Amino acid sequence: CGIFAYIGDRQAAALLVTALKRLEYRGYDSAGIGIQGGPLKVRKKVGKVSNLEEDVSKAGDQVSGTCGIAHTRWATHGKPSDVNSHPHTTADSSVAVVHNGVIENHQALKKQLASKGYTFVSQTDTELLAHLVKDLKGQMESANWTQVVATALRLCEGAYGVAFIFEDEPDLIIGARKGSPLILGVGEGEHMLASDASAIVEHTKDVVYLREGEIVEVRRSSFKVMEMTAVVKKLAQQESPRRP
Ligand code: GLU
Repeated sequence: CGIFAYIGDRQAAALLVTALKRLEYRGYDSAGIGIQGGPLKVRKKVGKVSNLEEDVSKAGDQVSGTCGIAHTRWATHGKPSDVNSHPHTTADSSVAVVHNGVIENHQALKKQLASKGYTFVSQTDTELLAHLVKDLKGQMESANWTQVVATALRLCEGAYGVAFIFEDEPDLIIGARKGSPLILGVGEGEHMLASDASAIVEHTKDVVYLREGEIVEVRRSSFKVMEMTAVVKKLAQQESPRRP
């Protein structure tokens, strides 16, 4: 339902929770945040953002970090519960993702991943995105996360706005959209992503509306918007270079 992500030099957890409050008016059944900083740290709760806020404040230093993703969920697959709330992660917490929309072919993709030994802890269509990205990264050794995420999303049918963080990349959030909105806020030494401008306006007036099928690499002091089809095409050329 609602997405917000932050990367910069300020503590992310409080900013993420405040942004989720700005998105509350859209309606939701649960909320969560994921913070980059060594292993990814996730706090998520069914119910109001104020429940999450209480949990986050109890977590204190455990959620310190200056890069993170946040979500208010409107359940489409899997009942509202703590475990079905976003972010979703891999078993080793190396990848975390928040997602708006629906992955239509989630059953087929889940089945493939389960047969490779991935264990699903939630009933959502979203969780597979974390496992899928992790699995592809293992197969595509020379590819970067942007290439891996673009490849993964090409396998997904349906609608999505997504934001990913990675344990091994402290200066990176990847966002992408198809059928769901995603907006980049450009600040000084900081960037945000949001599904709705209302969560960005208090930080910056400088915004970039991602277009359908675009992916964005967001770092503290730079960002790069690309078309997912172009990313995947370029990757194919690099993997199988043409003969001279
Ligand atoms: N389909 C996802 C879920 O049910 C995301 C729903 C949303 O857009 O909030 O978890």
